[in-house]
Amino acid sequence: MLHAKGPLLTVDVSDRTAIRTDIDDVLEAFVGGRAVATALAHDRIPFDADPFGPENRAYLSTGPLQQSRMSFTGRMNMTALSPLTDGLASTNAGGYLSRNFVDAGISTFELVGESDELLLIHVTDDGVEFEEVPELENAPVPEVSAHVAETRELGPEHCVAIGPAGENLVRFASVMTYDSRAFGRGGLGAVLGAKGVKGVTFSGDATPEIEIPSEPETAIHREAATTDDIRKRQGTTAGTEFRNENFSLPTRYFREYHFEDAASIGGDAVERKKYKKGSCSACAFACKLPLRDEETGFETEGPEFETTFSFGSLQGVGDLLDVMKANELCDRLGMDTISAGVTVAAYLDSEAEFGNAELAQELTEKIAYREGIGDLLAEGVDRCHEELGVENYTVKGLEFAAHDGRVLHGQGLSYAVANRGADHMYSVMLRLEYSGDVDPEGTLGKAETLVEQEDHAAFRDTGIVCAFGGSYVTEEYLEALFDADYEELLSVGAETVIRERHFNNRRGFDRGDDELPYELPDLEAAIGEYYEARGLTEDGTVPEGSVEPVAPSAD
Ligand code: SF4
Repeated sequence: MLHAKGPLLTVDVSDRTAIRTDIDDVLEAFVGGRAVATALAHDRIPFDADPFGPENRAYLSTGPLQQSRMSFTGRMNMTALSPLTDGLASTNAGGYLSRNFVDAGISTFELVGESDELLLIHVTDDGVEFEEVPELENAPVPEVSAHVAETRELGPEHCVAIGPAGENLVRFASVMTYDSRAFGRGGLGAVLGAKGVKGVTFSGDATPEIEIPSEPETAIHREAATTDDIRKRQGTTAGTEFRNENFSLPTRYFREYHFEDAASIGGDAVERKKYKKGSCSACAFACKLPLRDEETGFETEGPEFETTFSFGSLQGVGDLLDVMKANELCDRLGMDTISAGVTVAAYLDSEAEFGNAELAQELTEKIAYREGIGDLLAEGVDRCHEELGVENYTVKGLEFAAHDGRVLHGQGLSYAVANRGADHMYSVMLRLEYSGDVDPEGTLGKAETLVEQEDHAAFRDTGIVCAFGGSYVTEEYLEALFDADYEELLSVGAETVIRERHFNNRRGFDRGDDELPYELPDLEAAIGEYYEARGLTEDGTVPEGSVEPVAPSAD
């Protein structure tokens, strides 16, 4: 099977050492990306680790396709123990990092330890350099990029960085690359912050050789370049109005299902403000959204659909410029726009301040620096809802994405059982339910489909293929690219989901954590069906003895 190549580079910031370890066996079995990072994290992070402790490990990893010239591959995976969910979290960002990362001659990067000084780490094919950067304390992300450009002559496409939110241990801090692309969910920015790492650069000229079959590569690239898919113009915001009218666009902290100003923040409104194309490396689909407000001259990249929900409808804000400003703030300060927006919406609910965009932006700043009320909100909804006196719209501590499980019941089931909580990317059941391929009503009889969707998504994040490539990178193309049956690819995904769950089980997660803050028809029985289809015990745990260690020892 096609797989990523190159050693694991472990950087320990406690003693400023770096070692390269051969992980060919792991790469052969787990391909790359999320599967490899999960296998390593499972075996090398102690089950009782503190997410903010030196023993937590953060992984960046590529798949083999990050060395192709194929569209939908400009992405990378990041995995660590999450300070928000307290379980393993993998998150995925676009941009241009992946090609520069592999040039350093590695497949996987592992960060461990804790530094007293704020550090930038520079990884090249020649070695690793540690730079103390006290002058970058609490610097927004673009200032880190400016520093790297000035001192190293490297652009933001070589860099991952955290903003003040990561340094101040905001539980939903993101890790940013290319200034505007986020490893968003699960608070992995705070993991870097706890380690005293402001950023890492990757460069070199030692790309491991991988032979990618050219026929599917070329065909997919041609389709991406020539299709007139609306998402090339509107990105993820395409379909906002359709969802609002026919399904749900959660509004005013989930109190309502439809937003009266959806047209002002939806796909058409976004397209009107788009002033140029935006993409990730090698991708001709170019779905990104550089926006400009002509009246004020304000520019930002995005918002994506999830941000028009979290800082728009969910806060009762119907002005796209306000959503753009909040989006820009989150990128600069280094925060997940979904969790930040949902948490701010919870506060607006508690103060009866829906629609107050100015207050929302003020709160966003305060969260990043943990100032005043921001200190409480920086903990996320699960930890602050009681004090605010609002409903707890999270699963396993992760704030909900926009796609509404109260209406798309299979997606609701997915949120309940997903190892990383209310994350819409964990299975993407929502697509089948929006399209009508699966009836959105009811939870029973959907477990087999959900398991397959989870396995597919886990492999997608392993290969790595962008979620937008779904209808272009077909099963047949995947088989040709990876030289394997689709069933084999799914089994890599399945093994990844099981290892995540096993790790979380060992931290105390069980059936009691697979729950929703709202009722769905037959949910308990449907969760039982899921456990059976996934091969879990009735308590939602992985059967004893079914997971063996595969990674080199960390000792
Ligand atoms: S489809 Fe969009 S998000 Fe995905 S790799 Fe291409 S430009 Fe990036």
